[in-house]
Amino acid sequence: MNNQKVGILGGGQLGRMMIEAASRLNLSVTILDSPTDSPAKQIESTQQHIQGAFNDPAKIRELASQVDVLTVEIEHVDADVLAELETSSKIRVCPSAFTVKTIQDKYNQKQYLESFGIPVSAYVDTPDVESVKRAGEQFGYPFMLKSKTMAYDGKGNYVVDSPQKVEAAVAALSKTPLYAEKWAPFVKELAVMVVRRANGEVRSYPVVETIHKNSICHLVIAPAQIDGAVAKKAQSIAENAIKAFTGAGIFGVEMFVMENGEILLNEIAPRPHNSGHYTIEACDTSQYENHMRAILDMSLGSTAMKVPASIMVNILGSDSDMQACYKPCQEALTVEGATIHLYGKKECRAGRKMGHITLVGESMMQVQRNLAPILQAIEPDIQ
Ligand code: ATP
Ligand code: MG
Ligand code: MG
Repeated sequence: MNNQKVGILGGGQLGRMMIEAASRLNLSVTILDSPTDSPAKQIESTQQHIQGAFNDPAKIRELASQVDVLTVEIEHVDADVLAELETSSKIRVCPSAFTVKTIQDKYNQKQYLESFGIPVSAYVDTPDVESVKRAGEQFGYPFMLKSKTMAYDGKGNYVVDSPQKVEAAVAALSKTPLYAEKWAPFVKELAVMVVRRANGEVRSYPVVETIHKNSICHLVIAPAQIDGAVAKKAQSIAENAIKAFTGAGIFGVEMFVMENGEILLNEIAPRPHNSGHYTIEACDTSQYENHMRAILDMSLGSTAMKVPASIMVNILGSDSDMQACYKPCQEALTVEGATIHLYGKKECRAGRKMGHITLVGESMMQVQRNLAPILQAIEPDIQ
């Protein structure tokens, strides 16, 4: 369908699901990642994948020499090498080196978004302990101390709930530069996937609610059960935010909704996102397929839901016991409208994303009812 070869930096579950979509369109995808059996490499045997770190400049150049389009499944890559390739070779980098570089530093990302009038929580640079203490005086407690770079699953965040905690917080996050963010007492967390073509055309998916546990995404409820006006506002903030960047591809936009309906943008992911897994079963075109279409400059597919309701639940690893991950999947086999996605990860670690299950149904009530035994299998003690 399209002769351009695609290269992906990173071969985890997002790369795997990109390959699933690409394979239906006869698209060729090559992966750069260290494990030879990474989730994405496992399911694409027609290509000679590259073994190496996805942020190793030499390996990125090697991949670039073999493909026409480079894209990412993770933002923590060497954006300077991407910029060099963008100017020195014929290759297209998606979304763009500038976009990846701006987004991968959360502090830069916030400054950039603010300059386009996108609402974000108040924040301040904190290069040393003294400035973190001043942030506490400015924002009050608790506030969030955040790593500017390399953050995921809340691992770069520290809730500072008193002046006495400042030093412990700085010590805990000592590996990266830090900034402080005012606490956002949200009533719900929302997310919107937005797909962008290089010419600036954007299409957004419905607003979903994300429910986190220990800062890791647990459930995604689609569509979000919120006031229509709030949903409209969230969708428009997400679209405007993505219009502000450059390049083609899919983006995940995370937001907070406050008691009074005010919306703050939390952060953007310049790639497919956990909150968009549901689109595989619940939307006309999945986030993965639309990402492929966008980066190859093909027409975008409809982002509308084709079912009234959907919920996705993540299967997280628990202390190296793979069997515990299979329990909710066994349960899902007996549940109407459930689709199981296991990522083929060999090593099970606590909190690691091992798979997910998406349920679709005729109403949110029905989906919630069908979800109950699956949640019970995940957490027998709680439900
Ligand atoms: P991800 O895995 O989504 O990339 P991350 O490590 O980049 O996560 P954030 O998205 O910044 O981390 O924060 C993780 C979670 O912490 C948020 O989803 C939200 O629940 C909470 N959180 C983040 N910032 C704030 C804030 N300013 N006020 C209150 N809660 C916050
Ligand atoms: Mg993040
Ligand atoms: Mg986040």
